[in-house]
Amino acid sequence: MAKAFNWQINKEVTYPYEPKRPKRQFAVVMDLNKCIACQTCTVACKTTWTPGRGQEYMLWNNVETKPWGSYPLGWDIKLLELLNGNKKTVLDAPDGERVLGYKPEEMDWMYPNVGEDEVNEPVDIGTVLENFPHPIWMFYLPRICNHCTYPACLAACPRQAIYKREEDGIVLIDPERCEGYQECIRACPYKKTMFNFVARISQKCIGCFPRVENGLQPQCVITCIGKIRLMGFVNPPDKARPDNPIDYLVHIKKVALPLYPQTGLEPNVYYIPPINVPIRFLKQMFGEGAENAVKTYMSMREGKEPEILGLLHLFGSTPQIIHSFKVMDNNAIGYDEKGKEIVRVPIVEPIQERPHKDEKLEVVRQDIP
Ligand code: SF4
Ligand code: SF4
Repeated sequence: MAKAFNWQINKEVTYPYEPKRPKRQFAVVMDLNKCIACQTCTVACKTTWTPGRGQEYMLWNNVETKPWGSYPLGWDIKLLELLNGNKKTVLDAPDGERVLGYKPEEMDWMYPNVGEDEVNEPVDIGTVLENFPHPIWMFYLPRICNHCTYPACLAACPRQAIYKREEDGIVLIDPERCEGYQECIRACPYKKTMFNFVARISQKCIGCFPRVENGLQPQCVITCIGKIRLMGFVNPPDKARPDNPIDYLVHIKKVALPLYPQTGLEPNVYYIPPINVPIRFLKQMFGEGAENAVKTYMSMREGKEPEILGLLHLFGSTPQIIHSFKVMDNNAIGYDEKGKEIVRVPIVEPIQERPHKDEKLEVVRQDIP
Protein backbone atom coordinates (compact mmCIF):
# COMPACT_ATOMS: atom_id res chain seq x y z
CA MET A 1 0.00 0.00 0.00
CA ALA A 2 1.26 3.46 -0.94
CA LYS A 3 0.47 6.89 0.48
CA ALA A 4 -0.95 9.61 -1.73
CA PHE A 5 -1.74 13.23 -0.93
CA ASN A 6 -5.34 14.30 -1.58
CA TRP A 7 -5.54 18.10 -1.77
CA GLN A 8 -9.36 18.11 -1.64
CA ILE A 9 -9.44 16.78 1.91
CA ASN A 10 -5.93 17.97 2.77
CA LYS A 11 -4.67 14.62 3.95
CA GLU A 12 -2.90 11.46 2.87
CA VAL A 13 -4.87 8.49 1.64
CA THR A 14 -3.73 4.90 1.28
CA TYR A 15 -3.73 3.54 -2.25
CA PRO A 16 -2.84 0.03 -3.47
CA TYR A 17 -0.64 1.34 -6.30
CA GLU A 18 2.13 3.92 -6.38
CA PRO A 19 0.24 7.17 -7.02
CA LYS A 20 1.24 9.07 -10.11
CA ARG A 21 -0.63 12.11 -11.33
CA PRO A 22 -1.22 12.07 -15.09
CA LYS A 23 0.42 14.64 -17.37
CA ARG A 24 -2.89 16.41 -17.38
CA GLN A 25 -6.19 15.65 -15.72
CA PHE A 26 -9.58 15.62 -17.48
CA ALA A 27 -12.05 17.76 -15.51
CA VAL A 28 -15.54 19.17 -15.93
CA VAL A 29 -17.17 22.10 -14.13
CA MET A 30 -20.98 22.11 -13.88
CA ASP A 31 -22.96 25.15 -12.69
CA LEU A 32 -25.89 23.65 -10.77
CA ASN A 33 -27.71 26.97 -10.76
CA LYS A 34 -28.41 26.54 -14.45
CA CYS A 35 -29.37 22.87 -14.94
CA ILE A 36 -32.99 22.45 -16.03
CA ALA A 37 -33.04 18.61 -16.06
CA CYS A 38 -33.88 18.53 -19.76
CA GLN A 39 -31.79 15.31 -19.94
CA THR A 40 -30.30 16.30 -23.30
CA CYS A 41 -26.90 15.30 -21.91
CA THR A 42 -28.28 11.92 -20.87
CA VAL A 43 -29.73 11.27 -24.32
CA ALA A 44 -26.61 12.54 -26.11
CA CYS A 45 -24.46 10.12 -24.12
CA LYS A 46 -26.93 7.26 -24.42
CA THR A 47 -27.22 7.47 -28.19
CA THR A 48 -23.46 7.90 -28.62
CA TRP A 49 -22.12 5.20 -26.31
CA THR A 50 -24.72 2.87 -24.79
CA PRO A 51 -27.37 1.94 -27.36
CA GLY A 52 -26.34 -1.74 -27.40
CA ARG A 53 -27.71 -4.93 -25.92
CA GLY A 54 -27.02 -5.32 -22.23
CA GLN A 55 -26.72 -1.54 -21.96
CA GLU A 56 -30.43 -0.75 -21.84
CA TYR A 57 -30.38 0.42 -18.23
CA MET A 58 -27.00 2.10 -18.45
CA LEU A 59 -26.81 5.86 -18.06
CA TRP A 60 -23.18 6.91 -18.00
CA ASN A 61 -24.58 10.44 -17.70
CA ASN A 62 -27.64 10.82 -15.51
CA VAL A 63 -29.42 13.77 -13.89
CA GLU A 64 -30.94 13.41 -10.41
CA THR A 65 -33.22 15.70 -8.47
CA LYS A 66 -31.85 16.35 -5.02
CA PRO A 67 -32.63 15.77 -2.20
CA TRP A 68 -34.69 12.67 -3.11
CA GLY A 69 -33.46 11.48 -6.48
CA SER A 70 -30.66 8.94 -6.84
CA TYR A 71 -29.48 6.48 -9.48
CA PRO A 72 -28.91 3.74 -8.53
CA LEU A 73 -31.40 3.94 -5.70
CA GLY A 74 -30.03 5.46 -2.51
CA TRP A 75 -26.39 5.50 -3.67
CA ASP A 76 -25.44 8.60 -1.73
CA ILE A 77 -27.29 7.67 1.46
CA LYS A 78 -25.48 4.33 1.47
CA LEU A 79 -22.17 6.07 0.78
CA LEU A 80 -22.61 8.43 3.73
CA GLU A 81 -23.41 5.46 5.95
CA LEU A 82 -20.24 3.68 4.79
CA LEU A 83 -18.12 6.73 5.58
CA ASN A 84 -19.49 6.68 9.11
CA GLY A 85 -19.76 10.43 9.67
CA ASN A 86 -16.67 11.12 7.52
CA LYS A 87 -14.49 9.18 9.94
CA LYS A 88 -13.01 7.27 6.98
CA THR A 89 -12.55 7.43 3.22
CA VAL A 90 -13.60 4.58 0.95
CA LEU A 91 -9.90 3.69 0.71
CA ASP A 92 -9.86 2.82 4.44
CA ALA A 93 -10.92 -0.77 3.89
CA PRO A 94 -10.73 -3.55 6.46
CA ASP A 95 -7.90 -6.10 6.16
CA GLY A 96 -8.23 -8.32 3.11
CA GLU A 97 -10.26 -5.72 1.18
CA ARG A 98 -9.07 -2.87 -0.98
CA VAL A 99 -12.03 -0.51 -0.94
CA LEU A 100 -15.09 0.03 1.25
CA GLY A 101 -18.12 -0.53 -0.91
CA TYR A 102 -21.37 -2.29 -1.66
CA LYS A 103 -22.98 -3.62 -4.79
CA PRO A 104 -26.38 -2.18 -5.71
CA GLU A 105 -29.20 -4.69 -6.11
CA GLU A 106 -30.64 -5.26 -9.57
CA MET A 107 -33.80 -3.38 -8.60
CA ASP A 108 -31.75 -0.32 -7.56
CA TRP A 109 -31.04 0.31 -11.25
CA MET A 110 -34.69 0.28 -12.27
CA TYR A 111 -35.72 3.84 -11.32
CA PRO A 112 -33.47 6.43 -12.96
CA ASN A 113 -35.96 9.24 -12.39
CA VAL A 114 -37.06 8.45 -8.86
CA GLY A 115 -37.83 11.62 -6.92
CA GLU A 116 -37.72 13.79 -10.04
CA ASP A 117 -38.87 17.36 -9.38
CA GLU A 118 -39.75 16.54 -5.75
CA VAL A 119 -38.92 19.27 -3.27
CA ASN A 120 -37.40 18.70 0.16
CA GLU A 121 -40.66 18.83 2.11
CA PRO A 122 -44.39 18.84 1.37
CA VAL A 123 -45.81 22.12 0.08
CA ASP A 124 -49.15 23.11 1.60
CA ILE A 125 -51.89 24.35 -0.68
CA GLY A 126 -51.71 28.13 -0.90
CA THR A 127 -48.01 28.34 0.02
CA VAL A 128 -46.37 31.36 -1.55
CA LEU A 129 -42.61 31.21 -2.05
CA GLU A 130 -41.90 34.87 -1.61
CA ASN A 131 -38.90 34.94 0.70
CA PHE A 132 -35.38 34.21 -0.46
CA PRO A 133 -33.88 31.87 0.58
CA HIS A 134 -37.04 29.95 1.34
CA PRO A 135 -37.37 26.59 3.11
CA ILE A 136 -38.74 24.76 0.07
CA TRP A 137 -35.98 23.73 -2.30
CA MET A 138 -34.67 21.18 -4.79
CA PHE A 139 -32.00 21.14 -7.45
CA TYR A 140 -30.75 19.00 -10.30
CA LEU A 141 -27.48 17.09 -10.10
CA PRO A 142 -26.04 15.83 -13.40
CA ARG A 143 -23.48 13.07 -12.91
CA ILE A 144 -20.82 11.35 -14.98
CA CYS A 145 -17.74 9.35 -13.96
CA ASN A 146 -15.42 11.64 -12.01
CA HIS A 147 -12.25 10.23 -13.57
CA CYS A 148 -10.88 10.28 -10.04
CA THR A 149 -7.22 10.93 -9.32
CA TYR A 150 -7.23 7.84 -7.05
CA PRO A 151 -9.99 5.74 -8.64
CA ALA A 152 -11.65 3.19 -6.35
CA CYS A 153 -12.71 1.15 -9.39
CA LEU A 154 -9.08 0.79 -10.46
CA ALA A 155 -7.92 -0.01 -6.91
CA ALA A 156 -10.48 -2.79 -6.56
CA CYS A 157 -10.08 -4.60 -9.89
CA PRO A 158 -8.46 -8.01 -9.31
CA ARG A 159 -7.64 -8.29 -13.04
CA GLN A 160 -5.96 -4.89 -13.33
CA ALA A 161 -8.31 -4.26 -16.21
CA ILE A 162 -8.88 -0.62 -15.26
CA TYR A 163 -6.29 2.01 -16.04
CA LYS A 164 -5.87 5.75 -15.84
CA ARG A 165 -4.44 7.34 -18.95
CA GLU A 166 -1.18 9.21 -18.56
CA GLU A 167 -2.05 11.74 -21.28
CA ASP A 168 -5.39 12.99 -19.89
CA GLY A 169 -6.26 11.16 -16.66
CA ILE A 170 -9.33 9.50 -18.21
CA VAL A 171 -10.16 6.20 -16.45
CA LEU A 172 -10.97 3.30 -18.77
CA ILE A 173 -11.85 -0.39 -18.51
CA ASP A 174 -10.01 -2.72 -20.88
CA PRO A 175 -12.78 -4.97 -22.25
CA GLU A 176 -10.24 -7.66 -23.15
CA ARG A 177 -8.98 -7.97 -19.59
CA CYS A 178 -12.29 -7.53 -17.75
CA GLU A 179 -13.74 -10.84 -16.56
CA GLY A 180 -16.92 -9.34 -15.13
CA TYR A 181 -16.12 -9.86 -11.43
CA GLN A 182 -17.91 -6.53 -10.75
CA GLU A 183 -15.48 -5.49 -8.02
CA CYS A 184 -15.37 -2.02 -9.61
CA ILE A 185 -19.15 -1.75 -9.31
CA ARG A 186 -18.89 -2.59 -5.64
CA ALA A 187 -16.01 -0.15 -5.14
CA CYS A 188 -17.03 3.02 -7.00
CA PRO A 189 -18.68 5.23 -4.37
CA TYR A 190 -20.41 7.22 -7.11
CA LYS A 191 -21.72 4.01 -8.71
CA LYS A 192 -20.44 4.97 -12.13
CA THR A 193 -19.30 1.60 -13.39
CA MET A 194 -22.10 -0.64 -14.66
CA PHE A 195 -22.39 -4.27 -15.66
CA ASN A 196 -23.21 -5.26 -19.22
CA PHE A 197 -25.21 -8.42 -18.63
CA VAL A 198 -24.96 -9.49 -22.29
CA ALA A 199 -21.22 -8.89 -22.83
CA ARG A 200 -20.60 -9.98 -19.18
CA ILE A 201 -18.12 -7.17 -18.55
CA SER A 202 -18.17 -3.85 -16.67
CA GLN A 203 -18.46 -0.63 -18.62
CA LYS A 204 -18.32 3.04 -17.73
CA CYS A 205 -18.14 6.63 -18.97
CA ILE A 206 -15.09 6.97 -21.19
CA GLY A 207 -14.87 10.76 -20.98
CA CYS A 208 -15.53 10.81 -24.75
CA PHE A 209 -11.78 10.17 -25.14
CA PRO A 210 -11.88 10.06 -28.97
CA ARG A 211 -13.20 13.63 -28.87
CA VAL A 212 -10.76 14.77 -26.18
CA GLU A 213 -7.86 13.37 -28.23
CA ASN A 214 -9.00 15.65 -31.04
CA GLY A 215 -9.19 18.75 -28.87
CA LEU A 216 -12.98 18.53 -28.47
CA GLN A 217 -15.18 18.58 -25.36
CA PRO A 218 -17.41 15.54 -24.61
CA GLN A 219 -20.90 15.07 -26.03
CA CYS A 220 -22.69 15.74 -22.72
CA VAL A 221 -20.83 19.05 -22.44
CA ILE A 222 -21.39 20.43 -25.91
CA THR A 223 -25.04 19.38 -26.18
CA CYS A 224 -26.02 20.86 -22.80
CA ILE A 225 -29.05 23.09 -23.33
CA GLY A 226 -28.48 25.05 -20.13
CA LYS A 227 -24.81 25.65 -21.02
CA ILE A 228 -23.94 24.58 -17.50
CA ARG A 229 -20.80 22.60 -18.40
CA LEU A 230 -17.19 23.26 -19.31
CA MET A 231 -14.59 20.54 -19.87
CA GLY A 232 -10.90 21.20 -19.55
CA PHE A 233 -7.88 20.11 -17.55
CA VAL A 234 -7.35 20.76 -13.86
CA ASN A 235 -3.94 21.13 -12.25
CA PRO A 236 -3.09 20.35 -8.63
CA PRO A 237 -3.42 23.51 -6.47
CA ASP A 238 0.34 24.23 -6.34
CA LYS A 239 0.43 24.29 -10.16
CA ALA A 240 -2.84 26.19 -10.69
CA ARG A 241 -2.80 28.64 -13.62
CA PRO A 242 -5.13 31.64 -13.26
CA ASP A 243 -5.73 31.74 -17.02
CA ASN A 244 -6.85 28.08 -17.10
CA PRO A 245 -10.67 28.20 -16.86
CA ILE A 246 -10.95 25.09 -14.67
CA ASP A 247 -8.11 26.10 -12.34
CA TYR A 248 -9.62 29.57 -12.04
CA LEU A 249 -12.99 28.27 -10.86
CA VAL A 250 -11.63 25.40 -8.74
CA HIS A 251 -8.44 26.78 -7.19
CA ILE A 252 -8.36 30.55 -7.58
CA LYS A 253 -12.00 31.44 -6.89
CA LYS A 254 -12.92 28.12 -5.21
CA VAL A 255 -16.43 28.47 -6.57
CA ALA A 256 -16.50 24.94 -8.09
CA LEU A 257 -16.27 22.01 -5.66
CA PRO A 258 -15.89 18.22 -5.89
CA LEU A 259 -18.84 15.93 -5.14
CA TYR A 260 -18.50 14.10 -1.82
CA PRO A 261 -14.76 14.84 -1.52
CA GLN A 262 -14.83 12.81 1.71
CA THR A 263 -14.65 9.62 -0.41
CA GLY A 264 -10.91 10.40 -0.63
CA LEU A 265 -10.65 9.68 -4.37
CA GLU A 266 -10.11 13.28 -5.58
CA PRO A 267 -13.03 13.26 -8.04
CA ASN A 268 -12.54 15.58 -11.03
CA VAL A 269 -16.05 16.77 -11.81
CA TYR A 270 -16.51 20.07 -9.99
CA TYR A 271 -19.86 21.65 -9.15
CA ILE A 272 -20.81 25.26 -8.62
CA PRO A 273 -23.31 24.69 -5.78
CA PRO A 274 -26.91 25.91 -6.06
CA ILE A 275 -27.55 29.12 -4.13
CA ASN A 276 -31.10 28.19 -3.04
CA VAL A 277 -30.17 25.24 -0.85
CA PRO A 278 -29.40 25.15 2.91
CA ILE A 279 -25.65 25.37 3.51
CA ARG A 280 -25.70 22.32 5.80
CA PHE A 281 -26.88 20.15 2.94
CA LEU A 282 -24.34 21.67 0.54
CA LYS A 283 -21.46 21.15 2.98
CA GLN A 284 -22.33 17.49 3.33
CA MET A 285 -22.34 17.14 -0.44
CA PHE A 286 -19.52 19.44 -1.56
CA GLY A 287 -17.39 19.93 1.55
CA GLU A 288 -16.65 22.88 3.82
CA GLY A 289 -16.00 25.26 0.92
CA ALA A 290 -19.70 25.31 -0.03
CA GLU A 291 -20.59 28.41 1.99
CA ASN A 292 -17.84 30.53 0.45
CA ALA A 293 -18.63 29.21 -3.02
CA VAL A 294 -22.25 30.36 -2.65
CA LYS A 295 -21.10 33.78 -1.36
CA THR A 296 -18.74 34.18 -4.31
CA TYR A 297 -21.48 33.24 -6.77
CA MET A 298 -23.85 35.73 -5.13
CA SER A 299 -21.17 38.43 -5.47
CA MET A 300 -20.90 37.58 -9.14
CA ARG A 301 -24.63 38.11 -9.50
CA GLU A 302 -24.18 41.53 -7.93
CA GLY A 303 -21.57 42.41 -10.56
CA LYS A 304 -18.55 42.06 -8.26
CA GLU A 305 -16.87 39.12 -10.02
CA PRO A 306 -16.64 40.11 -13.71
CA GLU A 307 -14.08 37.39 -14.51
CA ILE A 308 -16.32 34.58 -13.23
CA LEU A 309 -19.28 36.10 -15.05
CA GLY A 310 -17.26 36.29 -18.27
CA LEU A 311 -15.97 32.76 -17.88
CA LEU A 312 -19.49 31.41 -17.40
CA HIS A 313 -20.30 32.93 -20.80
CA LEU A 314 -17.74 30.58 -22.33
CA PHE A 315 -19.62 27.50 -21.08
CA GLY A 316 -21.30 25.86 -24.06
CA SER A 317 -19.82 28.43 -26.45
CA THR A 318 -17.56 26.14 -28.50
CA PRO A 319 -17.06 22.41 -29.06
CA GLN A 320 -13.30 22.90 -28.72
CA ILE A 321 -11.43 22.55 -25.42
CA ILE A 322 -10.61 25.98 -24.00
CA HIS A 323 -7.11 25.89 -22.51
CA SER A 324 -6.92 29.52 -21.42
CA PHE A 325 -9.25 32.50 -21.22
CA LYS A 326 -9.34 36.24 -20.82
CA VAL A 327 -12.13 38.65 -19.94
CA MET A 328 -11.74 42.15 -21.36
CA ASP A 329 -13.72 44.97 -22.97
CA ASN A 330 -17.08 43.26 -22.38
CA ASN A 331 -15.83 40.08 -24.03
CA ALA A 332 -14.99 36.62 -22.76
CA ILE A 333 -12.33 35.06 -24.99
CA GLY A 334 -11.27 31.42 -25.12
CA TYR A 335 -7.97 30.15 -26.54
CA ASP A 336 -6.79 26.73 -27.69
CA GLU A 337 -3.63 24.98 -26.52
CA LYS A 338 -1.42 27.02 -28.83
CA GLY A 339 -2.90 30.30 -27.62
CA LYS A 340 -5.01 30.85 -30.74
CA GLU A 341 -8.38 32.52 -30.18
CA ILE A 342 -11.20 30.03 -30.73
CA VAL A 343 -14.20 31.83 -29.31
CA ARG A 344 -15.27 35.34 -28.26
CA VAL A 345 -18.57 35.98 -26.49
CA PRO A 346 -19.93 39.42 -25.58
CA ILE A 347 -20.90 39.57 -21.91
CA VAL A 348 -23.64 42.09 -22.58
CA GLU A 349 -25.20 41.70 -26.02
CA PRO A 350 -25.17 44.96 -27.98
CA ILE A 351 -28.65 46.45 -28.52
CA GLN A 352 -29.37 47.71 -32.03
CA GLU A 353 -32.12 50.28 -32.30
CA ARG A 354 -33.42 50.68 -35.82
CA PRO A 355 -35.32 53.77 -36.93
CA HIS A 356 -39.07 53.43 -37.27
CA LYS A 357 -38.90 54.47 -40.92
CA ASP A 358 -36.25 52.92 -43.16
CA GLU A 359 -35.52 55.73 -45.58
CA LYS A 360 -33.55 53.55 -47.99
CA LEU A 361 -36.18 50.86 -48.37
CA GLU A 362 -39.01 53.29 -47.81
CA VAL A 363 -40.74 51.02 -45.34
CA VAL A 364 -42.03 51.54 -41.87
CA ARG A 365 -41.00 48.96 -39.30
CA GLN A 366 -43.68 47.69 -36.97
CA ASP A 367 -43.06 46.17 -33.56
CA ILE A 368 -44.39 42.68 -33.56
CA PRO A 369 -45.87 41.92 -30.15
S1 SF4 B 1 -28.31 19.02 -20.87
FE1 SF4 B 1 -27.49 20.47 -19.37
S2 SF4 B 1 -29.33 21.54 -18.61
FE2 SF4 B 1 -30.06 19.67 -19.62
S3 SF4 B 1 -30.12 18.15 -17.95
FE3 SF4 B 1 -28.11 17.92 -18.89
S4 SF4 B 1 -26.77 19.22 -17.62
FE4 SF4 B 1 -28.88 19.84 -17.17
S1 SF4 C 1 -16.18 7.88 -10.35
FE1 SF4 C 1 -16.12 5.67 -9.93
S2 SF4 C 1 -15.89 4.77 -11.97
FE2 SF4 C 1 -15.26 6.89 -12.16
S3 SF4 C 1 -13.02 6.89 -11.79
FE3 SF4 C 1 -14.03 7.35 -9.83
S4 SF4 C 1 -14.18 5.37 -8.84
FE4 SF4 C 1 -13.83 4.93 -11.03
